[in-house]
Amino acid sequence: MNIQANPSPNFLKAHNARHLWHPMGDPKVSEADPPLIVARGEGVYVYDADGKKYLDCVAALWNVNVGHNRPELQRAMIEQIDQLAYYASFMGTTNPPAIALSALLMEMLVPENMARVLFSSGGSDANETAFKLARQYWKIEGQPERTKIIALKNGYHGVHFGGMSATGTGPHRRTYEPLVPGFFHVESPYLYRNPWTDDHEELGRICAAELDRAIQFQGPDTVAAFIAEPIQGAGGVIVPPENYWPLVRQVCDKHGVLLIADEVVTGFGRTGAMFGSRGWGVKPDIMSLAKGINSGYVPLGATVVNERVASAWQKPHPLAGIFHGYTYTGHPLACAVALANLRIVQEEDLPANAAKVGDYFQQRLRELADRQPLIGDVRGRGLMLAIELVKDRKTREPFAPTDPIGKKLVEGARARGMIMRFTSGKIIISPPLIFTKAHVDEAIGILSETLAAAASEATAA
Ligand code: PMP
Repeated sequence: MNIQANPSPNFLKAHNARHLWHPMGDPKVSEADPPLIVARGEGVYVYDADGKKYLDCVAALWNVNVGHNRPELQRAMIEQIDQLAYYASFMGTTNPPAIALSALLMEMLVPENMARVLFSSGGSDANETAFKLARQYWKIEGQPERTKIIALKNGYHGVHFGGMSATGTGPHRRTYEPLVPGFFHVESPYLYRNPWTDDHEELGRICAAELDRAIQFQGPDTVAAFIAEPIQGAGGVIVPPENYWPLVRQVCDKHGVLLIADEVVTGFGRTGAMFGSRGWGVKPDIMSLAKGINSGYVPLGATVVNERVASAWQKPHPLAGIFHGYTYTGHPLACAVALANLRIVQEEDLPANAAKVGDYFQQRLRELADRQPLIGDVRGRGLMLAIELVKDRKTREPFAPTDPIGKKLVEGARARGMIMRFTSGKIIISPPLIFTKAHVDEAIGILSETLAAAASEATAA
């Protein structure tokens, strides 16, 4: 058997998960129940090693926004490889795709007054860059005590030490403690589950006021930045009330605190606006970007900063250099694919499609909720949607994290030809942004059957 040239489906199945550890999973579980081997992709569909077809309702990991195996992106890769597969951006060198992409991003981010970009290899990297630049900004500005970062409970900001310390979900933090000092958390505006109110506006005011008090408690002159996702993704698609982000911007301005929007998932159209924060009419000081920037075809992250932040680096200060960067910063292949990808996002107006098809998806999910009591809440914006399942709709009693329902649903959907994600009691739906209403109907058919089967098993149990 020639492993390098052509591993057969039988070889792959025999070796599946024997040597590989999978992110965010228990190796014992993946050994007993090996992962699906995704071997081929086309548009909104992928195929496993046996050729079975699946509707990809998660765009791999919220990121394959233009769909799988787009010829335009394949061509961009080949053309770039023909010229130069890789060169570094350290030591006084750069490359054409990185320069062109920086110009395109600044053009796309004119409404946010963004001025500079520093590339990296993914979302976790982009957030580390954001935290480091925020701290450095205050040192250059003569306020070196401004080092603290405030984040939201339930937020997800990646797996490096900074992002993990900003993350607000239990096991991602606890397993790897001690975390980085100087990271603090406030409540997220979670309408379906909060101790205060069912009123959107009131919740927005309460949560923004909590941020205000947290900054005052820490001492505004010690707080560098507040970071949040415009819509919390991995935490369960928590869509903040309309007034929340504008109020957060006001609170940050009142105390001079930088506002970092983690747009790793929400950037480039997923929420129905080109950027998630734009949907709230809010201009962050720093934005972390990844995933949809090149639909995940080659790893890429980017941290963009506005004029206010960038201007500090114009100062004659011993720390006003960039003492940060990755070997793959400005990777030419990743940037070339991003250029081709963003052309599609703009020409096909994928944010508008996400808004239109997302509204339809949400309407169909609400119809499903009317006849399926397992569904406690349906929420989302654009093609970033979640269904929160409950044992009892009146009391909103959640399923225990150990309840087998999630596994049953994911497997049931797969058996019926659809990939979806289940996390902490929520079904997450984040398909490619090229989804059509016909794809939504296909997904709803599978989801409806899968939920009905799980509900009858739950009643029988
Ligand atoms: N921020 C957010 C909001 C994310 O959802 C993710 C990953 N899903 C990250 C950061 C980390 O990105 P990566 O996995 O590319 O490091």
